[in-house]
Amino acid sequence: MLQFMSFGSGSSGNCYYLANENDAILIDAGIGVRKVKHLMREYGLSASKLRAILITHDHADHVKASGNLSSDFTLPVYATEKVHEGIQHSYRFYRKIEPMYVKFIPKDEEFSIFSLRITAFELPHDSAENVGYSIHTDNPEDGVFTIMTDIGTPTEKVYEYIEKSNFLVLESNYDEEMLANGTYPKMLQDRIKGGHGHLSNHQSAEALAKCFHEHLKNVWLCHLSEENNHPELARKTVECHLRSFGIIAGKDFQLEVLKRHVASDLYELSIKS
Ligand SMILES: [Zn+2]
Ligand SMILES: [Zn+2]
Repeated sequence: MLQFMSFGSGSSGNCYYLANENDAILIDAGIGVRKVKHLMREYGLSASKLRAILITHDHADHVKASGNLSSDFTLPVYATEKVHEGIQHSYRFYRKIEPMYVKFIPKDEEFSIFSLRITAFELPHDSAENVGYSIHTDNPEDGVFTIMTDIGTPTEKVYEYIEKSNFLVLESNYDEEMLANGTYPKMLQDRIKGGHGHLSNHQSAEALAKCFHEHLKNVWLCHLSEENNHPELARKTVECHLRSFGIIAGKDFQLEVLKRHVASDLYELSIKS
């Protein structure tokens, strides 16, 4: 059985924990060592199970603690070559990843970290490169877990991986009206809603409605904007849109919103419930 937990989600820092019985990984490293250690202790998560850190892309909210987490837990950091290059260019901002911990991964080709089978696939975003991750084990009953964050626009890959997933972490960054009427300057608004920025609540809802299937058990909305979104609004937008297609959150699938600064529950993922 897979376990999932968010240690924090959004532009102030992203870090997610995924594990099976034997092996655990962190996805993104935007949360400091002290907080990660504190949360792992609090939730009884063993650091000795940690095998690696996977990075989605080279923006600070996803990588600023990568050097520290990697050195402290002695973990390799897996990312595409372009993302590692992007991280290197940001070293003046934070601690370097030791060269021996730098691991390159392919895209669209499965690789393994111990018992976890992982595929990285490209997502449009204004970083050096950005990938989503789809993860499963050799036990089909563990299901397929996918994380996609910082998505400029829903692409065929986004649809393809929603269709493959039992458990899905999907960006729902902003409410279109809040963004348009908020304090962000026009240039920044255009960046966010442009094809290489972020996914709105509506885009997220539409992608889910288009690709929904009965084996999709859990959806967590992630990377919500502090200024241009609200957890209840994100949830309602997705919930209402899906309801108009006869898909009921809480019955046909479980819908949760991940908080920016507060860790989520520790979820035990089951494809049967
Ligand atoms: Zn981000
Ligand atoms: Zn980003």
